[in-house]
Amino acid sequence: MIPELPSFERWGDLAGKRVLVRVDFNTPVHEVNGKTEVADDFRIRATLPLLEYLKSRGAAVTCMTHFGRPNGTGDERFNVEPLRRCLNGLCPGIELMENLRFNPGEEANDPAFGASLTEGFDYYINEAFGASHREHASIMIPPTLIPSAAGPNLQKEVLTILTALESPKRPFVAIVGGAKIKDKLAITKVLAQKADQVIVGGGMAYTFEVADGRTIGDSLFDESNLQNCRSLLDSQKVLIPTDSLGLKSGQPFGDGGPDAAQGFDENIPDGFMGLDIGPETIEAFVAVILSAGTILWNGPMGVFEDDRFAKGTTAVAKAVAASSGFSVIGGGDSVAAIQKLGLAGEVDFVSTGGGASLELVEQGDLPGLKALRNSKG
Ligand code: AMP
Repeated sequence: MIPELPSFERWGDLAGKRVLVRVDFNTPVHEVNGKTEVADDFRIRATLPLLEYLKSRGAAVTCMTHFGRPNGTGDERFNVEPLRRCLNGLCPGIELMENLRFNPGEEANDPAFGASLTEGFDYYINEAFGASHREHASIMIPPTLIPSAAGPNLQKEVLTILTALESPKRPFVAIVGGAKIKDKLAITKVLAQKADQVIVGGGMAYTFEVADGRTIGDSLFDESNLQNCRSLLDSQKVLIPTDSLGLKSGQPFGDGGPDAAQGFDENIPDGFMGLDIGPETIEAFVAVILSAGTILWNGPMGVFEDDRFAKGTTAVAKAVAASSGFSVIGGGDSVAAIQKLGLAGEVDFVSTGGGASLELVEQGDLPGLKALRNSKG
C-alpha cells in the first residue's frame, strides 16, 4: 500500500492567491566573466511544469530553496542571486526568497522561522524531494499552518521508488555500491528482504568478502559491520565480487595516477588494495542485471572518478541501460556515472535526491511526506 500525498489540483482556481513552493535549487555554479552563474539548470528546469501551471491558474508564486552550506550565517558566497537570474530567464514573474540556510532556524526546524516563511501565503507546495528526508523548518512547519500539497515531481519520485519496491516486476535486482558501508547497510538489509537478488560492489563489498573468509589486503574494511555482512550473506540473496582491480597500497588514485591497474582474483594479497570489480565479476553482475524485471541501483562499483577503476561502474551502467527491466537509479554517484556515459535517457527513472531516495527505500517514508499527509486543509 502506497500512502497518497495531498494534491494541489484540489485547490482549483488560484486567482489572487499566493503560493509558496519549496524547491531544491541547490545546483552547481561556476564563474563566467567574473560573475557566478548556474552551471547545470536541470533542477530549476524540473520545476517549470509546476510553476507554469500555478501561473496559468492566476497564482502569485514564490519559491524558496537552500543553497550550499552557509551554516546559518549570511555567507554571501551562497546568496541565491545566480539561481534567481536563471529562474527569471526560464520563467519570468516568479519570486525566489533568500537562501533558507542563511537563517539558523531552517536547519534547527525552528517553528517561529517556519511560521515567518508562510506569512502572507495561502498555500504551500513541497516540490523538493531531495530535501524531504530532512526535518528542516521549510519542509516541516508550513504544512502545520496552511493548506499544503506535494508537487508533481515529488509525487512521481515517491510513487516510482515505492512501486518498484512494493510491487516490482520480477526478478527484482537491487545493486548497491559506494564506499560508506555504514550508510548503505540498512538499505542493503531492506533490499535483501524485498529483492530477489542484491548485487554488492564498490568499497563496501570488501567487508562482505572478509565475512566470506577471503583476504582483502588494504581495501576498505569496516570491522564493526562484519557480523551484519555475515547475516546478509546467509540470506543467500547477496551476490559479491569474485575478483578485483586495484593498486599497491599507498599509490595515488581517484584522479588517475602513474601505475596501471592490477588484477586480483578471490583474495587480495597484503600490500595491495581493491578499487574496482574485476572482469569475472562484471560478467556475472551483467548477466543478472540483463535478466531483471526491475532494477534499483545506488552506488558505484569502484573508484569510477579514476578512469583506471571505472570499468565496473561503466559495465553496470551499460547493462542497466540495456536491460528491458524497469530501472530506477538513485544516489549522486550512480547518477553522475550514468550521465557521464550519456545513458541517462536509457534508464526509466533517475532519482534526483540521493539521501532522500536512500531513506525512502530504507524507511518506506520521509519526514517531509508525513508532514504533508498531516497537513492542514
Ligand atoms: P558513497 O558516498 O558511499 O556512495 O561512495 C561513493 C564513493 O565510493 C565514490 O567516490 C567512489 O570513488 C568510492 N569507492 C567506490 N569503490 C571504492 C573502493 N573499492 N575503494 C575506495 N573507494 C571506493
